[in-house]
Amino acid sequence: MNIDIPLNRFTVITGVSGSGKSSLAFDTLYSEGQRLYVETFSAYTRQFLDRMDKPAVDRIEGIPPAVAIDQTNPVRTSRSTVGTMTEINDHLKLLFARGARLVCSGCGKLVRRDTPDSVADALFARQPQARRPVVRLVVTFPVDVGDKVTDADLEELVRGQGFRGVHSRVGATAYIIQDRIAIDGAVPAKANAGSGAPPARERLVEALEHAFDSGHGRVAVWDATDGKSTERSLFSSDLHCADCDIHYRDPVANLFSFNSPLGACERCRGFGRVIDIDYGLVIPDGTKTLLGGAVKPWQSKSYDECQRDLLSFARKRGIRVDESWSDLRPDEREWVLEGEGEWEDGHWYGVRRFFDWLEGRSYKMHIRVLLSRYRAYRECPACGGARLKPEALQWRIGPGDGMTIRDVMEQPLDSLAEFFATASFRDADDAVRSVVVEIRRRLGYLNEVGLGYLNLDRQSRTLSGGEVQRV
Ligand SMILES: [Zn+2]
Ligand SMILES: [Zn+2]
Repeated sequence: MNIDIPLNRFTVITGVSGSGKSSLAFDTLYSEGQRLYVETFSAYTRQFLDRMDKPAVDRIEGIPPAVAIDQTNPVRTSRSTVGTMTEINDHLKLLFARGARLVCSGCGKLVRRDTPDSVADALFARQPQARRPVVRLVVTFPVDVGDKVTDADLEELVRGQGFRGVHSRVGATAYIIQDRIAIDGAVPAKANAGSGAPPARERLVEALEHAFDSGHGRVAVWDATDGKSTERSLFSSDLHCADCDIHYRDPVANLFSFNSPLGACERCRGFGRVIDIDYGLVIPDGTKTLLGGAVKPWQSKSYDECQRDLLSFARKRGIRVDESWSDLRPDEREWVLEGEGEWEDGHWYGVRRFFDWLEGRSYKMHIRVLLSRYRAYRECPACGGARLKPEALQWRIGPGDGMTIRDVMEQPLDSLAEFFATASFRDADDAVRSVVVEIRRRLGYLNEVGLGYLNLDRQSRTLSGGEVQRV
């Protein structure tokens, strides 16, 4: 690209966001003018001034000393995103902590807190009414008793505390009977709810209340209609999937923030990517053979011992050293990269252990330089770039399958605004509703100023100057 700009005239540069207007004005024209100006000072003075790099131009002529009034985009950290800058993320984490639903990571079913009322409803609703008009239930709660105590001793102990006895023992857990209740399955569940409920429901709810209390939030109800009493239904007042026996922590706002240790993925600490040895850089040329120096770091004098080890072990194992790397079988390549065991034990250590060993010596400058040549960023394998702990991604908002906080982060702002405009949070409390109003307002603004194509996860430092101003 060639341009002529007249001196001593007023020149305006226009164009769409991100097209490079600021790069031309500030990073090229101003930067060159400033650099030439600084060069007029003595070497002594110059050492006190910031060193200025030559702008990325082939040739630039006739630039006078320049003054710039700059728009600032001081954001340099990858922890700043459109979402954090606009504070929409702060509102989202409140929304997810208070207004999201939890999906079990084991079975994909919704995880709910059970209450005595919800359990009673479930038990009444479950009865196949025609065949079994009366259903006999045993309400129990689990207690961890270990395996030392005998059945007889346990029975005596339990009865001594005023309970009706032990229902059964499964492993180290004993199920203590709270109450036995017969409910009339022919009565529709609705008629059993609320005031005027039949005595059986009241008694059931009361038994469940006590059982939840004694069982520290856990209850087991057994169906004893056919006399065998083997069918067990588990309920929990915690966030607990009874089917998978997985416990979940109560959600707090910071679980949904990658800038908090509570929410940040432990592997990448919330950056979404990790720095690792890139084998593509270690073996950059697939046409080379092992004999011909396919493993690049071992071709230098400092590490030619590794090259010799590679060749001598390879001959013993029948690995083909005169075949080009890309023609080796997967198991041969794996052998080269992963090795067989520790170097100290006289085993073939492989490329991976070689780099592990280097990492251990990275306090030395030249090792750090060497490592940096073979390292590259890649998506974090633990969170897949989501930056958050897996637990945070089990929570969803919105209709249908809903969206995780990651889905929300990755949506373009225009369709996200649409989602929040149509999603109703009718069951939510006032706090959640006011958070939603605030999110709608901010998304509406961002779309009005024409930034609907961005998403919340977009890193601030990659925005153009004009975009930052509008955010
Ligand atoms: Zn489950
Ligand atoms: Zn991660």
